[in-house]
Amino acid sequence: MPIFKLRRFLFPFTWSLCHRFDTRYSQLFDRYEPFQWSLFMTTSTGLGVRADGPKEEWVENPETGEKYVKVGDLEFPPRKVWMKTFGCQMNYHDSDRVLAHLSDLNFTQTDDQMDADLILFNTCAIRDLANQKFYSKLGDSKHAKKANSNVKIGIGGCIAQTEGKELIKKYHHLDFAFGTDVIDTINDMVFRAYAGEKRFTVTSWDRSENFSIETKITHGSPQAFVNIIKGCNKYCTYCIVPYTRGKERSRRLDEIVKDVQRLVKYSGIQEVTLLGQNVNSYGKENGESLAELIMELEKIEGLELIRYTTSHPYDVSDELIAVHGKSKKLSRHLHLPVQSGSTEVLKRMHREYSIEHYLGLLEKLRKANPEIVLSTDIIAGFVNETDDEHQQTLDLLDKAQYDFIYSYAYSERPKTRAAKMEDHLTDDKRGERLREIQAHQTKIQEKIREGLIGKTFTVLVEGHGNMGGIKKWKGRSNCNRIVHFRPENDEQDLQWSWVEVEITSATAFSCQGEIKKVWGRRMPADAPRY
Ligand code: SF4
Repeated sequence: MPIFKLRRFLFPFTWSLCHRFDTRYSQLFDRYEPFQWSLFMTTSTGLGVRADGPKEEWVENPETGEKYVKVGDLEFPPRKVWMKTFGCQMNYHDSDRVLAHLSDLNFTQTDDQMDADLILFNTCAIRDLANQKFYSKLGDSKHAKKANSNVKIGIGGCIAQTEGKELIKKYHHLDFAFGTDVIDTINDMVFRAYAGEKRFTVTSWDRSENFSIETKITHGSPQAFVNIIKGCNKYCTYCIVPYTRGKERSRRLDEIVKDVQRLVKYSGIQEVTLLGQNVNSYGKENGESLAELIMELEKIEGLELIRYTTSHPYDVSDELIAVHGKSKKLSRHLHLPVQSGSTEVLKRMHREYSIEHYLGLLEKLRKANPEIVLSTDIIAGFVNETDDEHQQTLDLLDKAQYDFIYSYAYSERPKTRAAKMEDHLTDDKRGERLREIQAHQTKIQEKIREGLIGKTFTVLVEGHGNMGGIKKWKGRSNCNRIVHFRPENDEQDLQWSWVEVEITSATAFSCQGEIKKVWGRRMPADAPRY
């Protein structure tokens, strides 16, 4: 399945990505042959890779007319890349960038690993489950290498950042590992692999003064993720992100505005999700802010909807709350990860806010925009959580009335401060508490969804599927609710259309609706935005 279809199903996971400061500089040129030195040892970009080395150049075979890419002396005929991404939206966004870069090297995407010339993994170090899945897939990739020894295999992302060298030593079928800050140099690494270099690691940090990129998209949808800040300075005790993604650095506001203007004008983008590990910290080092950025983006004609993720409650400013009240294009949904209902647990997590402060934020947000829909992340059974602290999380669910939650049982991540804490809680107890939290929230959601019956939402249609033998389209509302509905006739193609849908029935987890009006792929300026 193409990556852009998958990523929408993933969590707007608060523990996105970050880095470590005892960074090992990459062994970028350790194994270089003299000819490769001459190709790469040019101007440093801050990443330790070429700035003015050989570039991708499209040429045509005069005999066959086939187009291929040349980089220096190496030829890149059409090849296929299979890429598997684990983790948060930031990782999916990074994978999109990787695929966009690889298209300049004549790669197209394939869903079949055995059909691929290049196999890439974008890994996640946050959760144990993603970790286990990655290792199982990594093991499977040995078969592809056995079947075709020309296949190149690389791993990127958070695990590669912290354990790349060890993995390269341990798994002999791996060709290269690359960290989170060098994804924009993927073509250099692929070039090196095809030039014959074996088993290298690139995990250097971008030390340039500004965080400056251009959004790259490989899909044809009107939705785009736009990375506005990278890294995280928060150091929550359970999270490895600050060690895998580094310090916070923001793009300049005017660069982002121009980037989005370009996406709207030339790529048909109508909805952007501003992305970062902690978007609420955006712009601090430059005297800019997320609130300011949203109000500037709002002015772009043709842009319909602005979302942002992921938020940290400590950095939600009054200025931003006010924007939720006045912006016409900002989504009426906010995902505000709380993690626990107990202030004591929040202290052990080093979350830097109390539960009273958090509830105060929800109150202000609902005052600013009474229609706002809220969701959150919860960690069940954090280190030494007592029965009473767990009960406080259940109480919080009642008070907050979240539209949905993402909940996980705490699992220890190596190299985090929480992993060093003495812990008396068992995994069984964690599982029990997780189930209790989920059952409690399900009842709350059932009531909230019941209250939606009869209401109308404008949804952007994202796809269709088969529900009980009936073809149904699926759209996402401004407030981030998914609604399923039947087309008016079997031939009707609603992909990426704006459609008004009335909710006719609902369960705790989904809404079913009926088409009221089809606006088409562009909403008229005066159409109501429900
Ligand atoms: S805010 Fe905390 S949980 Fe989120 S990325 Fe930063 S350290 Fe991790």
